[in-house]
Amino acid sequence: MAQRLLVVEDSKAIAKVIEQLAKALGFEVTVAYNLAEVESLLQGGASFFAATVDYALPDATDGEAIACVLSHGIQAVVLTGKMDELTRQKILSQPVIDYIPKENSQAFLYLKRILHWQRTNQENGILVVDDSLSARNHIVELLKRRNFSVYVASDGVKALEVLEQHPDIKMVITDLEMPNMDGIELTNEIRKRYTRDRLAVIGISGASNGIHSARFIKNGADDFLRKPFCPEEFYCRITQNIENLNNIKQIQRAANTDYLTDLPNRRAFIQFSQSKIPQYVEQNTAFCLAMLDIDYFKKINDTYGHEAGDNVLKMVALYMRKHLPGAMIARLGGEEFAVLLTGVDDDQLYARLDDLRRELSLAQLSYENHQISLTVSIGVVFNSDDKLAAQMNAADQALYNAKENGRNQIVVSGQED
Ligand code: GH3
Ligand code: MG
Ligand code: MG
Ligand code: MG
Repeated sequence: MAQRLLVVEDSKAIAKVIEQLAKALGFEVTVAYNLAEVESLLQGGASFFAATVDYALPDATDGEAIACVLSHGIQAVVLTGKMDELTRQKILSQPVIDYIPKENSQAFLYLKRILHWQRTNQENGILVVDDSLSARNHIVELLKRRNFSVYVASDGVKALEVLEQHPDIKMVITDLEMPNMDGIELTNEIRKRYTRDRLAVIGISGASNGIHSARFIKNGADDFLRKPFCPEEFYCRITQNIENLNNIKQIQRAANTDYLTDLPNRRAFIQFSQSKIPQYVEQNTAFCLAMLDIDYFKKINDTYGHEAGDNVLKMVALYMRKHLPGAMIARLGGEEFAVLLTGVDDDQLYARLDDLRRELSLAQLSYENHQISLTVSIGVVFNSDDKLAAQMNAADQALYNAKENGRNQIVVSGQED
């Protein structure tokens, strides 16, 4: 079910803008034009994921709507036309998600990002490490307002344990001075175990001396905050570092994924196989590496068009995923796929590949008003401890023989006639 956003705003034009950006994010929207409407909605028991609250309303000119929304347990982003220090203080004395000065169109882009994070931050685990309970609680409270999944530890040793138990942790915020293991040592230990594209570290210290920020950074921290910090600065550093990690993840995913089928690509297949095959060999796990190529695919393109061909490739990818759950399946290029499969023994592995081959030969792939059928040829190598390139060549050679022998069949490397 779509989440509902409450938009409290007396200007119809601004309410419309917020409504549109919220809908673009997938929210359902309810608009209240004054405090009286907010009160009647909330007393009526309406529930909301979050609210955007205009600071000044005709019947609540001094931010009264903020407290009203918060008192019903609804998280609020405040929009304000006023940007004096007193207003800022007044807003920040309440546990709001953020406040946004309505200065220009940037404000709405920022609001959109805030709403997006508010919904996705749960996936981002953050570990707060501080021996002072009050300092820790302050940071935890700020993070919870932003819906992060929050973990705590009171020193570096405990922090390393928590990290190991919770792989969803993407960021560590650590104090400097702590018993057992201090923040610098912790950062150092973290960098022996976790790379910077996997885990961000932000150091915090109350010391006025700048030397600590340098020490944190030189020991592998990504950023530094000096106490006392204002909430704006805190949130800015946190979100920037989380966004960096997410951007890196997206780039890595794009680099390892085939654009058309969304399967892993050749690079991903090679990387995965190179790390896994030695383990299979070592543990005596039955495995096979197979190359699969669609027969006479060119004819499908020629008969139904290139777009139909693209769709057939996507459907074949889905079939492979469905019939070989748990296998590493990649599109190497064109109409050629690679599979790395483990199982109980060679017979079972062969049977699974042959089931896939048969299923594909029986399938009627629908595209527009066409029913397209096809077959595939497969070359396969079992339990080889050769170098990956040699195994891929051997599977390719077996595939070539499958084609020569009449297609729609599996040929096992080393068993060619
Ligand atoms: P064989 O049974 O010997 O494998 O014959 P084939 O026609 O499948 O093989 P061939 O290598 O001669 O032709 C492959 C065709 O696949 C040629 C190329 O235009 C087409 N192709 C490669 N990549 C794509 C793609 O991404 N989309 C579409 N629609 N066609 C592609
Ligand atoms: Mg301390
Ligand atoms: Mg082909
Ligand atoms: Mg080919």
